[in-house]
Amino acid sequence: MFFKEISGHKEIKRKLLITVKEERISHAQLFTGPQGNGKLAMAIAYAQYVSCTDKQENDSCGKCSSCIKYNKLIHPDLHFVFPVVSYKGNSKPVSDDFLKQWREFILEKSYHSFNDWLEKMGVEKKQAGIFAHESNEIIRKLNLKTFESDYKVMIIWMPERMNISAANKVLKVIEEPPEKTLFILVSDNTEMIIRTILSRTQLIKIPKISREDMYETIKGEYEIPEEKIQEIVRLSSGSFLKALKLLNSDEVGDSEYFTKFTELMRYSYSVKIDKLLLWAEGMSGFGREKQKIFIKYSLRMLRENFILNISSENKNKISFLADKELNFSEKFSTFIHKNNIYKLNEEFNLALKHIERNGYDRLIMLDLALKTTKLLKIKNDI
Ligand SMILES: [Zn+2]
Repeated sequence: MFFKEISGHKEIKRKLLITVKEERISHAQLFTGPQGNGKLAMAIAYAQYVSCTDKQENDSCGKCSSCIKYNKLIHPDLHFVFPVVSYKGNSKPVSDDFLKQWREFILEKSYHSFNDWLEKMGVEKKQAGIFAHESNEIIRKLNLKTFESDYKVMIIWMPERMNISAANKVLKVIEEPPEKTLFILVSDNTEMIIRTILSRTQLIKIPKISREDMYETIKGEYEIPEEKIQEIVRLSSGSFLKALKLLNSDEVGDSEYFTKFTELMRYSYSVKIDKLLLWAEGMSGFGREKQKIFIKYSLRMLRENFILNISSENKNKISFLADKELNFSEKFSTFIHKNNIYKLNEEFNLALKHIERNGYDRLIMLDLALKTTKLLKIKNDI
């Protein structure tokens, strides 16, 4: 992993590089900040730089024997600890049991979330954690001699999910670390980490990615229209993970959904039944997949309009809407309030369910339009 693969954070990268150049590497560091900002990738890029034998000015060389192993995450002096789940035949799972999936997970992209990791492990609602028996593994690995590097690196992802007895054992090794050991803890939520660990690690706060950095990265890596880049930057609110999801989604940058949504709302509000009939007919030409995306898009628009309506703050700041959506919503949001939002939500979700079950789409859309007509007429009592 390289620093250059992570969007933004120039000042943090610069400071990290200096600690290596000036040989002031603190032996226990805690990288923290919001999900999707690249902090786990940053920890790995940092470790790779520490270990690189041909350090460049701003990044690892990528070619030395250490880098070649780091590029596959198979360096013998690099150890990972992360949340795992028990599975059939293994009631005491440790990180190494999931190492193959872990390496794929990290190498697939530079931004990571706990939910994506659960998905990668093939589990959903199971309790994932760093369990007590993991601490024996940690101690065993740290007592190994270094194989190739000066440093033994242990990256602990999500220390907030560490079981208390594991945490206490880790605390002990952080307090009295074997020589030339570098601990990097990477956390979404430091409030859940035990205090004693917090007080013994150097805190490196990594904020969300700035709009400017996000824009620059997307512009440099993706060939998409300017309008779509701007929308994604705005909607992802500093999480590159969100940006990646939006980049792969049809929902953004496609003004077709926006047009259909505004038509539905305008005709419904003014009770133009003949227009709504034509609208439903037009929607039936969309095909199921696009119909589903349209309904999900509408659900988001309704939610944002409701929030816009009840918020008194600077609307431009709080809203996750693209410019043209915001222009429309400034007036429209007064019609979405506490007396109809729940019912609207219910009706759109119901339509989604019916589409998924292969119901007759024209009828589903017309029904949805008529329900919307009724619901928009409900007054907001203050
Ligand atoms: Zn190198």
